[in-house]
Amino acid sequence: MSQRTTTPRAELHTHLGGAVDPVIMWTIAHRQGIRLPVKDYWDFEDMITMGPDKKNEGLDDMDKKYYHLTELIQSSPEAMEEAVHSVIGGGYRKCNLVLQELRFSPMKRNRTGERDLDFIMLAALWGMRRATIEYPQVSAGLIIALDRTFTPAQNAITLEKAIRYKADGIVGVDILGPDRDTFSMEDHAPLLSRARKAGLGLTVHAGETGNVEELRYVVRHIRPERIGHGLAAVRDTKLMKDMVKQGIVLELCPTSNLRNSVVKDVEELRTIIRTFVDNGVKFTINTDGPEMYKTSVLKEEEFLLANDIMNEAELARCMHWAFEAAFVKRKESGKTGKKK
Ligand SMILES: [Zn+2]
Repeated sequence: MSQRTTTPRAELHTHLGGAVDPVIMWTIAHRQGIRLPVKDYWDFEDMITMGPDKKNEGLDDMDKKYYHLTELIQSSPEAMEEAVHSVIGGGYRKCNLVLQELRFSPMKRNRTGERDLDFIMLAALWGMRRATIEYPQVSAGLIIALDRTFTPAQNAITLEKAIRYKADGIVGVDILGPDRDTFSMEDHAPLLSRARKAGLGLTVHAGETGNVEELRYVVRHIRPERIGHGLAAVRDTKLMKDMVKQGIVLELCPTSNLRNSVVKDVEELRTIIRTFVDNGVKFTINTDGPEMYKTSVLKEEEFLLANDIMNEAELARCMHWAFEAAFVKRKESGKTGKKK
């Protein structure tokens, strides 16, 4: 179905590992000679997607079951080019996404050092470039993810490369991955301030699960422009006030939170979102990974409307904030691909 009549939309929080159509992943895997654990396409699709019938026990569970395989399949320059290209074009065709920021962890795609990180990143950038030439209406940028499972020294290597390729379309830096006792946000603060000084946008996955102390640290000391999820703030009015004062925008991903058991049920999700609305916290609606969760920005909006969590005017305001908070600025409408 053509989405040309749909109001233009922006999506800021999508992980490449959960964003590529399973059909494309199936072909990429075969072309690279990856021995898959299943031989029937439908079993494969079932393995890398999560419909409403599935629930994970938490983020570690999700990482093990889904991302492990999708990241392996995406672990080559050829795969990265194809994957990024498909997501940006697909977002425009399916949801009229005229602005998309896509994130990934390069160090999770180099087969533990066998592949060259520079080529992984350059291939991703070239895939993005190809997509924005084919779809000149779309503005796109890549967010490079540092990872909680890596040491500050390893993450510093990734960061330097993100800075090196800034002019080619890297727009921001994130820290993501399941909670680890070995991870320290404090130890990563110098890296994030280096990213900021280099002119990259900052978004940090924090407060997705219950760790409110870390979220407080992020808000007060890292001071990123955006935070991935940030749900733990609902229990701390002062923290929400600080976020409002600093103009921090949350990237919410409702379906992902439910599927990963981060939020118990629709009732809890409603309470969280209404608390943010009532406290004036700015947020955007995202998928986290449209193909993995079998959703889209449009479906997320429909879901929030159908469950009386948000109304049309509130959703339109969130979309406005998404364009405003984007690290990549939107091309002027009507123009075809030329940068301002
Ligand atoms: Zn995320």
